[in-house]
Amino acid sequence: PRVCVVGSGPAGFYTAQHILKHHGEARVDIYEKLPVPFGLVRFGVAPDHPEVKNVTNTFTQTARSERCAYYGNVTVGRDVTVAELQRCYHAVVLSYGAEDHRVLGIPGENLSGVYSAREFVGWYNGLPESQDLKPDLSCETALVLGHGNVALDIARILLSPLQLLRKTDITDGSLAALACSKVKRVWLVGRRGPLQVAFTIKELREMINLPGARAVLDPADFTGLENTIKDAPRPRKRLTELMIKTALEKPVEKAVEAQTAAPREWGLKFQRSPQEVLPSADGRRARGEAAALHLVAAWWSAASSFLSQGSGDSAKAIPTGVTEELECGLVLSSIGYSRGLSLAALCARAGLYCSGWVKRGATGVIITTMNDSFDTAQSVLEDLQRGVLDVATSREGFGAVESILRSRGVRPVSFSDWEKIDAAEVARGRAAGKPREKIVDPQEMLQLISH
Ligand code: FAD
Repeated sequence: PRVCVVGSGPAGFYTAQHILKHHGEARVDIYEKLPVPFGLVRFGVAPDHPEVKNVTNTFTQTARSERCAYYGNVTVGRDVTVAELQRCYHAVVLSYGAEDHRVLGIPGENLSGVYSAREFVGWYNGLPESQDLKPDLSCETALVLGHGNVALDIARILLSPLQLLRKTDITDGSLAALACSKVKRVWLVGRRGPLQVAFTIKELREMINLPGARAVLDPADFTGLENTIKDAPRPRKRLTELMIKTALEKPVEKAVEAQTAAPREWGLKFQRSPQEVLPSADGRRARGEAAALHLVAAWWSAASSFLSQGSGDSAKAIPTGVTEELECGLVLSSIGYSRGLSLAALCARAGLYCSGWVKRGATGVIITTMNDSFDTAQSVLEDLQRGVLDVATSREGFGAVESILRSRGVRPVSFSDWEKIDAAEVARGRAAGKPREKIVDPQEMLQLISH
């Protein structure tokens, strides 16, 4: 059987891995729109979390399998349609992730100085389409909307000492911009309360221990919570306890000098919903300390029922009418990625599957994506076994796709091409003491492999 996977992020690679492992004859072709593989492992995961990126070793093994092929530089939906792929393969698995960011839907959202997490993270991680972002970091206060791990990633990158970032695979361009950054304060603003934060304890602890940055948490936000969380599930309990401890801890208990001398600070603001981004005096941008994010305080009603009913995630914040303006020069909205346009809307039929963020929406870490992709792969295997997929009719696979691509002037990049780009990046990085220096221009990547 010939199977095709669209997208080379964790979902694509884990789906391929499972099919190859459990079907001794299946062949899997992976199509990727960028010349380079690995999706958000390369363009999302924070540069100072290199251990998370080790999954690419497993993906590389999969790609090197004799029964697997990688075709980068092919945008499905533009260079070849899903319907065409379905004619060339017995099964097509869509694993192209969640491309769009969720919009805030408030006035002022389009002012310059307001960016989505996707753009901003893409900028420091070398995503080609985000390289023109060049965010203005000349203000002192940045506001991150959202209380998830991506929001913490952004705050950490903005406040990290440069010498820590220099050793990572953050791009040279963003490193230079961060070296001139005036940002010294980051507020993470969320609509709900401390019991509903979505970040996890490891990321919070990392932020609390960030050298040169002080946590500013309002003790009033945590009063009485200790009792409320007594019977909470253990991860929620430990996370809340850490916030309480940080908020209530007296300065003497910390390394006082280090903390008070900290040139930078960050904090969590709860129960606030953004209403409008107000422009600076020139009316064009949320920039300089004259600009502000206009927030409406939200009233959180279910702090206790959250535990007894376990309904914390579905509970809603209700506006109180109280408003507040928070001065800032930079607004980064980290309220989630959304599923982009469905490539398969018009051609759903047997033989078409999806895995990862296409399937579940933009939630879950790599492990969640892995389990989900194994489930999808299992469905493909079962359909093969039960005869739902007509393997009696032979399909040409890439042989047929190649002629379609050639007729449209598209030249795919192979996995060994990527390995050449990889080697060049690693060599460039070595000179600067970094794990790699990412090439951010796809044309330069293609030139490097004499495309
Ligand atoms: P993606 O990783 O987005 O992969 C989709 C792939 O499809 C991409 O390579 C894309 O270029 C390609 N594609 C898109 N459209 C097309 C098309 N039309 N044709 C061909 N190819 C296409 N998880 C962790 O475990 N640890 C972390 O530290 C962590 N950090 C994260 C940081 C950020 C900023 C984000 C957003 C997520 C993070 N995650 C982390 C979550 C993790 O990245 C996701 O669970 C995972 O990447 C989802 O995998 P996916 O394959 O569905 O999507």
